[in-house]
Amino acid sequence: MRFRPPPPCYHEVRDAIKRHGIGAVRRAAQVIGRTLGVKASPPGDVKLVLMETPLRVEGVLARGGYDPYRRIIVLAGDLWCWKTLIHETLHSMSAFFRDEELIPYSLEEWRLVVEGLTEFLTGCVLYRQRRERECYEYWVRRRYAPCRISYERYVRTFAALTQTLGITRCTLNKIFFHGAVRDWRSEYWSFLQSYGLPDLFRAWRGPQELEGAILKALMDGGRKRAAEEFGVLTDEELVDLKALLDSTYSSL
Ligand SMILES: [Zn+2]
Repeated sequence: MRFRPPPPCYHEVRDAIKRHGIGAVRRAAQVIGRTLGVKASPPGDVKLVLMETPLRVEGVLARGGYDPYRRIIVLAGDLWCWKTLIHETLHSMSAFFRDEELIPYSLEEWRLVVEGLTEFLTGCVLYRQRRERECYEYWVRRRYAPCRISYERYVRTFAALTQTLGITRCTLNKIFFHGAVRDWRSEYWSFLQSYGLPDLFRAWRGPQELEGAILKALMDGGRKRAAEEFGVLTDEELVDLKALLDSTYSSL
């Protein structure tokens, strides 16, 4: 990808986050609560650490991270911006990184699916803020490196799933946010059952395998129309990502 200098808001947003420190995390959490219509917050003792150089996660350079055991949000290097803060703050508010039983899975086997769902919700927050910030356009259009969508293929899978089955924001919130339900596992299993889905959180070899399992479950459940729609929406050649996400977020 050709290098493009970041937009002016990049410098403004980063300077403000550096100035406000943990206050910026609180602000991000408020924006998340308001835009997704959920009552949730990061841990009371959450910390924000800013680092000069990028993190290394599984050998890949990363712009941010959340340590669920030490409850630290890290923003590192020069590729983080508002979207990274929203993504990492979402992690800190999630059942996946708050429920002691789920943390080990979320860090290992389920990692990419959890990241995909987190980025899908990040996009929803940015979409709802699209009149006050340019982030959503930059995110979905991959316009600038710091603003660009991550885990894109999994984001597409979740968008296609949400759209095809008409999954509501309230349902997604119950599965995602810490404290939204009393018992995460029973809530999650009843969610799978009511939509006739396979267990989504597994060590998939890749997004295509996850999509294949969803397709099979829909077919086996006799929902041929839904399977067809899901197949079309997950096909990059048939449906533009921005068109899919615009329509998913506008009806969520
Ligand atoms: Zn993440």
